[in-house]
Amino acid sequence: MKQIFNDAYAAYIQQRGVTTHERVEQIRAVKKAILAKRESIVERVMAEVGKSRTDALIAEIIGAVDWLQWLERRARQVLADEKVPTPITLLGKKSRLYHEPYGVVLIICPWNYPFHNAITGIAAAYVAGNAVIYKPSEHAPCQGLVEEILSAAPLLHAAVKVVYGDGKTGSELIEQKPGKIFFTGSCATGEKIMMQAARHLIPVELELGGKDPMIVFADAGLKRPVAGALWGAFTNAGQSCSAVERLLIEDKAHDAFVANLIDEASKLRVAEGDSKGDVDIGRMTVGFQRDKVVAHVSDALAKGAKIVFGHVPTTDDLLVKPIILTEVTPDMQVWREETFGPVLPIMRFTDEGDAVRLANDSDYGLCASIFTADRARADRITRALEVGGVSVNNVNMSEGNPGLPFGGYKRSGFGKLRGPEGLLGFTRSKAVLIDSAGDKIEANWYPYTPGKYDRFVRFIGALYTAHWGRLVRIAWTGLKLEAFSQKPR
Ligand code: NAD
Repeated sequence: MKQIFNDAYAAYIQQRGVTTHERVEQIRAVKKAILAKRESIVERVMAEVGKSRTDALIAEIIGAVDWLQWLERRARQVLADEKVPTPITLLGKKSRLYHEPYGVVLIICPWNYPFHNAITGIAAAYVAGNAVIYKPSEHAPCQGLVEEILSAAPLLHAAVKVVYGDGKTGSELIEQKPGKIFFTGSCATGEKIMMQAARHLIPVELELGGKDPMIVFADAGLKRPVAGALWGAFTNAGQSCSAVERLLIEDKAHDAFVANLIDEASKLRVAEGDSKGDVDIGRMTVGFQRDKVVAHVSDALAKGAKIVFGHVPTTDDLLVKPIILTEVTPDMQVWREETFGPVLPIMRFTDEGDAVRLANDSDYGLCASIFTADRARADRITRALEVGGVSVNNVNMSEGNPGLPFGGYKRSGFGKLRGPEGLLGFTRSKAVLIDSAGDKIEANWYPYTPGKYDRFVRFIGALYTAHWGRLVRIAWTGLKLEAFSQKPR
């Protein structure tokens, strides 16, 4: 492990002279490689995690390429040195802000979007000037795939080391004290990582689980919100951090909505192996996740919920048909805990206040969606929701714009990926003040004397009291203080 870190650090030092412009060129080369090898990436991810072909194309390819394209267009501007206004108290000085890399960033990823998650984090960390150690999930390592794509950009490739292994490997990597840890995964692992990082005071960014609510008002109609709910809940077989995991329907629309949902759900094609792109939902990726689906659905049924579509999955198959549950109550696991499978639990709400209360009654706070024809109501709810992203009359779309930050509130973590905020998350700020004062002695330097104290008091009075002639008084008291400070004790 030590050698891997030493190599990564050496790569970081070696590339310190590489400009942001040159780094962006590397990003462009990666983008081209992804587009050229699109189908083989899709095939590889499908084989490894079982998603449908279109799910793979949309999330793994478009999601990654969109972000690379955003970096191409915006990274130079976001990462450029900034001139910061200098206050009148610091007359004669200039202020600058530099966005500097951490050195070696450790990126640890989950298995649900094995290519997209790897590329977005690596590209952002690299373009900001870091070297990267990337550890994929042991459940979807896609061995060699990331390296193959990055080899189209030799400088970038040289700055990235991929380390395969499980949680123990991840923990060993943290012990090498990277400059920053960018972690995407479950809350339970996030806690462990934060505790381990705390011992070394390593900054961490945690992109964790979700239990996203979708709120549907009667005025939204049926067609669009029904289609949105199905896609939001079942894309990637529900194994998405921002999947719709709680559907809240206004009381008066509930029955018609559920009937429509069942009708439309029955048209979904669920299958493994999608050669033509005509499968909607692929298989689940790992057995322990399917077992969680079984446990959550069984718990809900035992507590009074009804399965209105689908059935409890058998424990020997990863192909899990969508499950829709009604008569759900907040005490059920399926409503409280992240399920991460193709399950859609439904509750009713009476009015706006009730919808917000139910939506916010969760430990999680990743994203949410609202369907209503009333824009003012949508905006009120958007502001009231304790989540990091909201889609209005859409679902999972705030993350569709690479210029918007993605990341959660509450147990869904902190820190952002994407958008200027996400890119700057791979940098630390350096504050710079440049003085051209020649041989002058600063007023706040020694010697301290009663006379200087008195002049400081008058200067403060001029600075922070609003009155007519303020600027003249600041100039006058400031000059007196300045002149006094040049005198020997
Ligand atoms: P996980 O937490 O089990 O594993 C994630 C990664 O952490 C893996 O690479 C694993 O090997 C590693 N790991 C495990 N223990 C570790 C330790 N002690 N030290 C260092 N590394 C360790 O999560 P998972 O099952 O792979 O992924 C599913 C979870 O990821 C879900 O909760 C999902 O919501 C979340 N997720 C979040 C986002 C987001 O952006 N918020 C995106 C995708 C997935």
